[in-house]
Amino acid sequence: MAKIHSFDNVVKKIQETARRLKIDSSFVEKLSKPDATLERPITITLDSGASKTFNGFRVQFNNARGPYKGGIRFHPEADLDEVKTLACLMAVKCAAADIPMGGGKGGITVNPKELSEAELERLSRGWVQSFFNEIGPEKDVPAPDVNTTPKIMSWMVAEYSKLAGKNSPAAFTGKPLDIGGSLGREYSTAQGGFFVLRELLKKTGLTPAKTRVIVQGFGNVGYHTARILHENGYTIVGLSDSKGAILVPGGVDPRHVMEHKKASGKLAGVYCKGSVCEEIEYHQVSNEELLEADCDVLIPAALENQITDKNASQIKAKIILEMANGPITPEADSVLFKKGIYIVPDVLANAGGVTVSYFEWRQNLDNERWTEEVVNTKLEEKMVKQFNTIWAISMAEKIDLRSATYMLSIGRIVDAMKNQK
Ligand code: NAD
Repeated sequence: MAKIHSFDNVVKKIQETARRLKIDSSFVEKLSKPDATLERPITITLDSGASKTFNGFRVQFNNARGPYKGGIRFHPEADLDEVKTLACLMAVKCAAADIPMGGGKGGITVNPKELSEAELERLSRGWVQSFFNEIGPEKDVPAPDVNTTPKIMSWMVAEYSKLAGKNSPAAFTGKPLDIGGSLGREYSTAQGGFFVLRELLKKTGLTPAKTRVIVQGFGNVGYHTARILHENGYTIVGLSDSKGAILVPGGVDPRHVMEHKKASGKLAGVYCKGSVCEEIEYHQVSNEELLEADCDVLIPAALENQITDKNASQIKAKIILEMANGPITPEADSVLFKKGIYIVPDVLANAGGVTVSYFEWRQNLDNERWTEEVVNTKLEEKMVKQFNTIWAISMAEKIDLRSATYMLSIGRIVDAMKNQK
């Protein structure tokens, strides 16, 4: 797993923002480190009867605006430094989306594929036992992340409720629907990105019918983003997954690609035999060629550090919608800005996911079930409002959208910190 930008880079961005906002150094100091960095051993009994100890983490980053919020990842390379960076980005993201929550991230250094389901359940429950005193609906609300699923959330919330002595669905989000998960969560990250892109198009004079889109990554975020854009009249001219990439100048329906991918387990050139590609003109390209291909909107929705100082000058898109976390390095950022490319930063573009997680938490606290329509209407209101506020800052200050997003977000966090003094 490639590492997201280092913690130092995120702190540099916060410091740069603080200088713009003329924020007092005492706040900057507090915003440059987590409130808590927790690292604990988690020992479980394996199916063989032997015991094994794993390393578990939770980092809590600034709760001035509300309880900490962020996922838990199970990965062999998960480490404290990465979790710290991601927790900080969650604090920025929640404030940018105007969610009354702070930043959090957790993890276990483990390859979950090497565990049986029963071992995975014991490990998931073990994480909750280790951090029980520090988490909870009013303190810190974890969610799924890399390799953690609604099923894992159901074990975690059951363990939390057992220890708390009461049913506590609001302790975790990303749960299955029948135990308090929210409708619309499955595609909410993509849906939020769609609303933001739609608003940006209005500012730039592009129309969906004339907008050619390339999406890198065909998982939860990439697939649903491509699907929603296609359904709304955009032309998807390029797609990829870890197995390969295709360019389809005439456009492709991502739903057909997904149907075939599910049926055959493959994408790119291979998926085309006997399927939709027989009716369309396409060619197979490398990942590098996909990113540098001609299009109006490029959507990295797979991995970190995809656009760097090596390929930034070759990018032809007019807009980059960062649906993955950290797909553009800071060096590439300035090259792209000088080229006049609009970059919608990850902390805004993919904030739809955490926004609907927050909606799930609210439904659980109020013992309510919102319809899918209500969820999506509330998501639209939030994303449209935040985007337009950020756009106005970027125009007034003559700065890129990432810097404007940080100005809004850090400004909000510091206002809350001031009021807590
Ligand atoms: P996922 O595991 O469902 O999908 C990842 C996709 O990327 C897969 O299709 C995989 O084949 C593809 N991929 C892997 N390596 C690739 C490569 N070299 N070239 C092209 N494609 C490649 O993950 P996801 O949930 O869709 O998350 C994608 C990104 O979005 C991550 O950066 C994640 O942190 C971010 N994100 C996700 C959410 C969410 O709600 N799922 C929310 C915010 C941010």
